Amino acid sequence: MDLDQLWKNTQEELRVVLAPAVYQTFVAKTQLISLQNSEAIIACSNAYLCDLNQKRYYELFKSAFDNQTKKDNRLKFIVQEIIKNEDSNGLASSPLFSYQPKSSATHFTQAGLHPNYTFENLVVGNSNNFAYAAAQGVIKNPGLSYNPFFLWGGVGVGKTHLMQAIGHELLKNNPDLKIKYFPAETFGNELINALKTKAINQFKNKYRQLDCILVDDIQFLAGKEYIQEEFFHTFNALHLAGKQVILTSDRKPGDIKELEDRLVSRFMGGLTVDIQPPDLEMRSAIIQQKAQNKGIDLTFEAVQFLADNIQSNIRDIEGKIQELAVISLAQNHKLVDIDLVQKHFSSQNGSLSSAFSSSSPRLNARHLLSVCAKYFNLKTGDLCGSSRKKELVTARHITAYLLLTEIKLPLKEVGELLGGRDHTSIMHARDKVAADLQTSPPLKELINQIKNSL
Ligand code: ADP
Ligand code: MG
Repeated sequence: MDLDQLWKNTQEELRVVLAPAVYQTFVAKTQLISLQNSEAIIACSNAYLCDLNQKRYYELFKSAFDNQTKKDNRLKFIVQEIIKNEDSNGLASSPLFSYQPKSSATHFTQAGLHPNYTFENLVVGNSNNFAYAAAQGVIKNPGLSYNPFFLWGGVGVGKTHLMQAIGHELLKNNPDLKIKYFPAETFGNELINALKTKAINQFKNKYRQLDCILVDDIQFLAGKEYIQEEFFHTFNALHLAGKQVILTSDRKPGDIKELEDRLVSRFMGGLTVDIQPPDLEMRSAIIQQKAQNKGIDLTFEAVQFLADNIQSNIRDIEGKIQELAVISLAQNHKLVDIDLVQKHFSSQNGSLSSAFSSSSPRLNARHLLSVCAKYFNLKTGDLCGSSRKKELVTARHITAYLLLTEIKLPLKEVGELLGGRDHTSIMHARDKVAADLQTSPPLKELINQIKNSL
């Protein structure tokens, strides 16, 4: 079997067991470049990926690869450009996402779709995987599966992006589909203009002849009775004809004040799904993806630092990555490391989210992690890694204990910070250290020393 095929099979095996975000970010962008005497050299497209795969995902890669080769292999991850192999690129390779040349770029623009808002650019993780799965249902059976499809969530969580990604797919699958994206506000403004210019019939026809409408920020209709009335009729005309309606809002239908009951019940007649702000793992994946798109090479620690500290929304992540792009260009930095990131953002007086202040539990947690790592003569990545070596496990237990008792971080967050561990294993670590403390004066002394250097 050739190397590409062997790696493709290994990736397939991993795809089944991993969350889509993890697969897309860490596994899809790798390539097997040589295999000699059971030593496999695997290329990763940048230093961050390389580091993370070596530290956190080594065992996963190894077990899938050993399984494919029926041998006990050693894996070595190196940084090297990946020669694009469409087939091994995960989601981008599934038939659902393959481009059909029939639809030209103007097709998408005319439909009001932004070229960047595609599934290829969308990171899928815990906060949006349900919405993502439901979107696939809409794409498979437009007008039938979930109609209307109602997406809601806070600012910058990716509602517009996901909605437009569905639009792209529908249009790729059927270039003749009459599809239109528009903010609800545009609908309102056009209606008012149509009234002024006595062109109401044209207005009605324009919207009612469509096969699919993507209406963004429908909460705009709140309190605007006349616009609601017209939208209700447009909605009904399309819905009755089996046309797909996709809506977004900053809250669920029932929570939009001054929205007529009949509209609320129409909006809830299909599938209503929310998108939550991204968790730590997803933020890391998004940071990694956005940095890669801008050609910035971030170290593992730099990505973690940013993910810990930009917790507000994805638009903010993009803003910070943009700043880093400018800095890295100006300073001719090939690799952007944590020192550079910290230096830049600390000089900005809290321009990262408020979580950036020194009172932030997250930032204190990072500090504690690095103090513990230093104390045990390890790298932070080792503490957060998957190795079960005894000295690592002990250090990890003590770190977990201190994160819980000193920083008062919740169990779940400690688990996330220490490499995505389950909260029950963190609970066991805490209980074990607490029990050992009763009988072991050296352990007590050790913990005191760490506390003093915090
Ligand atoms: P919303 O409509 O919920 O306010 P947007 O869809 O406009 O948010 O997203 C804000 C920005 O964040 C956009 O530039 C979008 O591309 C990006 N973004 C949102 N969600 C994701 C994601 N899951 N993966 C990658 N980028 C995302
Ligand atoms: Mg939006």
